[in-house]
Amino acid sequence: MADFDTRALHDGEPVPRIEGAVTLPIFQTATYSHTADEPLRYVRLNNSPNHEALHDKLASLTETDEALVTASGMAAISSTLLTLLDAGDHLVAPETLYGGTLELFDTLLPRLGIDHSVLPAGRPSAWAEALTDDTTVLYAESITNPLLEVPDLPEMVSFADAHDLVSVVDNTFASPVNLRPAPLGFDVVLHSATKYLGGHSDVAAGVVAGPSSLVEAVRHTLTLTGGMLDPHACFLLHRSLKTLGMRMRRHNATAASVASALADHEAVDQVYYPGHPSHPHHERARALFDAYGGMVSVELAPGADPEVFFDRLTLPIRAPSLGGVESLVTQPALTSHRGLSPAERQALGITERLIRLSVGLEAPDDLVADLRDALDASHSAAAR
Ligand code: PLP
Repeated sequence: MADFDTRALHDGEPVPRIEGAVTLPIFQTATYSHTADEPLRYVRLNNSPNHEALHDKLASLTETDEALVTASGMAAISSTLLTLLDAGDHLVAPETLYGGTLELFDTLLPRLGIDHSVLPAGRPSAWAEALTDDTTVLYAESITNPLLEVPDLPEMVSFADAHDLVSVVDNTFASPVNLRPAPLGFDVVLHSATKYLGGHSDVAAGVVAGPSSLVEAVRHTLTLTGGMLDPHACFLLHRSLKTLGMRMRRHNATAASVASALADHEAVDQVYYPGHPSHPHHERARALFDAYGGMVSVELAPGADPEVFFDRLTLPIRAPSLGGVESLVTQPALTSHRGLSPAERQALGITERLIRLSVGLEAPDDLVADLRDALDASHSAAAR
């Protein structure tokens, strides 16, 4: 198998190139002419040349049989779960999932008669008690938000295999550069491609990847729910995938520098980065991941003022989402976890002083200097 970077450029590209175009053009058409013998091509059927090239490239990069692009990460998650689960079924998952996914479990799935149990992430083998005769799916994330925990993924796969569950993992935070869950044994791999795969904070997209039979079934659901990716968005995602390896290596390296620099700052109580030796799951991450990603969270020291920190920053932009070229910064208590009560947040270890940083592609020294300056300011404000 060629290197990831080579596959990102060449796999999935049409041979021969269409009209010799080195870059696959955008097929900005909803429908295609056909003869009596030809299959129908229509944009909602996910079979335009833009879709097909992307599907093959993503199957290669995720090391799966087949991949499907969707209109967003949530479209990937919802169409997968609506495919795998029938009325009366039950799924198990750790409690530390993306908020939108938990809301789907709590609101939409119960209306369809689908039940779930969310469980402490610590020991998946202890989840047997939560299983019912109707449990069919195990759902997880390979790195969690915002404390960047790494669950025991091999134990989850063994548990799913032992209990005949379809295992589904959202690999958004890791990206296929740092972790490929399919060779670990997960059945279905999902991505919000709005994050690292798109990589420029300019497109919403999702990916479902796995064995052909499952991906084809999800594709059928997607054609019925209409959550296909538009051809222009396909083009943006396709273009971004060509630089995914390079971008991730830079995100990985800069995040590691940022984590080390911030760990020593007096305004910081704790740094959360799976690549940092202080992270509780560092050893597990080291065993499973090629690198640790571009997300770093920090718990400011007591008294340090988050608003002063945000006001003083000049490079990271205060905005939700992650994985783009510009660094983004959020306060999870006010963004991703605002729907929880303070007590619920406390139980998950998410305080008002927790800051989440999506490390972009700025020069590492400039970014570290900017963050240090903002931390100095938040600390002096506390001392006054
Ligand atoms: N999965 C994870 C881990 C996410 O962080 C997000 C969004 O933040 C999603 C899925 C949903 O992705 P999208 O916003 O593309 O629908």
